[in-house]
Amino acid sequence: MRVQRLKRLLLFGPYIVFLVVLALVIVLSVFVVLQNRRIGALEEEIGHLTMNQNSLIEKVSSVDSSVDELKSAVTAISNELSLVDISAYDRQDKGSARTAWPKKVYLTFDDGPSPNTSKILDILDEYDVRASFFVVGTENPEYRKLYKRIVDEGHTLCMHSYSHKYNEIYSSVDAFTKDLDRIEDLLYRETGTKPVYYRFPGGSSNSVSRIPMSEFIEVLDDRGITYYDWNVVAGDATNPMLPAEKIIENSLCDLNEYEEAMILFHDLSNKTSTVEALPSIIEAIQEKDIPIVPIDEDSILIQHYTNSN
Ligand SMILES: [Zn+2]
Repeated sequence: MRVQRLKRLLLFGPYIVFLVVLALVIVLSVFVVLQNRRIGALEEEIGHLTMNQNSLIEKVSSVDSSVDELKSAVTAISNELSLVDISAYDRQDKGSARTAWPKKVYLTFDDGPSPNTSKILDILDEYDVRASFFVVGTENPEYRKLYKRIVDEGHTLCMHSYSHKYNEIYSSVDAFTKDLDRIEDLLYRETGTKPVYYRFPGGSSNSVSRIPMSEFIEVLDDRGITYYDWNVVAGDATNPMLPAEKIIENSLCDLNEYEEAMILFHDLSNKTSTVEALPSIIEAIQEKDIPIVPIDEDSILIQHYTNSN
């Protein structure tokens, strides 16, 4: 029995091994074919993606060239615009197209008296220059003396309200009138001279007053008081304080746009750079032989308010 079984094994063993190997080969071949198909499909997908990428690159480059075209169009337009003197139109809008130096310059100081007023007066005296001071009311006896000094030294003393509180002054015509009475009386009492010029806090074009500015202007007109705004700003109203060099630059750069240039300065305790800038500004104007004068009856009206305000 055992010998017979051994013989059968020897006879069929190689066949069995052969069949097992064959089965393995078939399974592996099928696997390889399937994998190849998947690889083929993946390759196709990659091909599609590459095509998409290429078309995207193409589109981006065409957008790039459109941007370049736009840029050169903008440059061409800018070049043409630079040939047009826009500033000339700007000046015409202001009603005073000019290229020459002004015939007169007014230095005007708002919001004083302050600890700087005496220093400003000393500098003006040193350069033999007269200016205009738009003052507010003060209870300080030391400062009150300065109203008289301003008048005595030949400057024009003008009103800038008593309280300088926008919400009070512009709350009603009555409130405005009472404030006007107060500053007018104070200046007359201190100097013996009736003030005839006024500058509205915030200017006649301020956007604070809910009441039309024409109503306040009427009050001034009835009393024969002329109001003045400005056409050049020193820029010293800003906080923090502007450096003196910047105040000098601001005060001088726009002068030649006006036949009569009126520069707005501030006479407040924290505006020390204004005092510092003043000598250089005066020197630069005097070097051009432009008279620096105080406001008087010959001054042209420099007013911001128009009926459309
Ligand atoms: Zn003011």
